[in-house]
Amino acid sequence: MKHEITKAFISYYDEYKRDLPWRKTNDAYKIWISEIMLQQTRVEAVKGYYERFINTLPTLESLANVDDDTLMKLWQGLGYYSRAKNLKKCAEVCMREHNGALPKEYEELVKLPGIGKYTAGAITSIAYKQRKSAVDGNVMRVFARLFDIHDDILKEKTKEQFISLVDEYVDDVEPGNFNQAIMDFANDICITNGTPACGRCPLQHLCLAYQRDTVMQLPNREKKLSKKEEPHTVIILRCQDEVYLRKRPATGLLANLYEFINIPSKQKVEDIQKIFTGIISIRSIGELKNVFSHLVWHIDAYEVYVDSKPNLEGIWVSEKEMLDSFSLPTVMDKVWQLTK
Ligand code: SF4
Repeated sequence: MKHEITKAFISYYDEYKRDLPWRKTNDAYKIWISEIMLQQTRVEAVKGYYERFINTLPTLESLANVDDDTLMKLWQGLGYYSRAKNLKKCAEVCMREHNGALPKEYEELVKLPGIGKYTAGAITSIAYKQRKSAVDGNVMRVFARLFDIHDDILKEKTKEQFISLVDEYVDDVEPGNFNQAIMDFANDICITNGTPACGRCPLQHLCLAYQRDTVMQLPNREKKLSKKEEPHTVIILRCQDEVYLRKRPATGLLANLYEFINIPSKQKVEDIQKIFTGIISIRSIGELKNVFSHLVWHIDAYEVYVDSKPNLEGIWVSEKEMLDSFSLPTVMDKVWQLTK
């Protein structure tokens, strides 16, 4: 017999499910792409990226064979570029070792690049209707409140406990709908910022946090991740109608993406004057802060015109070419916008 919690989520989904493009398919490839895009990015923002990605790369094989620049262009704006690289790596492994498809077994999926327990749970439950939970921060928030659990959700041990707990309630007929119901419910009712809508919550009579008045204390996040702060100076170097770009190293943050001159320290106008010869003008175009997952860049940005191209490793392109054909990471795009 189904537990009341399971029934409530399934009914919620039947009545209120959001109409999303990746919910119109059972294709594991498409579900996987959407789940990776949805990590750290809002649903509304993902829709356009998803459609464009799937139209350009409709199959796992097409993803495995795509050139890196096209892939980065498709991903441009979503950030966290290692996710896109892992998508391709994963597609290549599947072509080589899994007969050109994503494996159906959860245990095999979690061995693939970029696929963690949450994504494996989402793929197996939604595409293959296997009874697996897909537990992320949203699901932990909902279940922490339902069961009044105060353990630190940033600890791996707590996450494992939540996976075991949620696994008990996954619907055996529609496991994918159950998991997606919680995602919608977490987004619409048991929300993260602000006060949850307990007044119209179908689980209110079962919710221990509601009964004990601990809703606003949950979920508990004890371990604060402190991000490393770095000063940077970004220089848009221009000569006549062209802009200088260089490729970042093949490994590490923003690997292989193009950037303007990017110096990991604060440089004043006097310092910049010493770097280049033939300077026509130097303009400070502003400051900005860019937050990565573990790092914050505090950027001072300049636009420098020179009368001849210095001998630098990199390329010179027209503005149009740069905007049309190069996958600038979001941070460089933000610097570019300062010139407007
Ligand atoms: Fe969340 Fe409130 Fe519903 Fe409890 S009663 S599950 S806190 S919305």
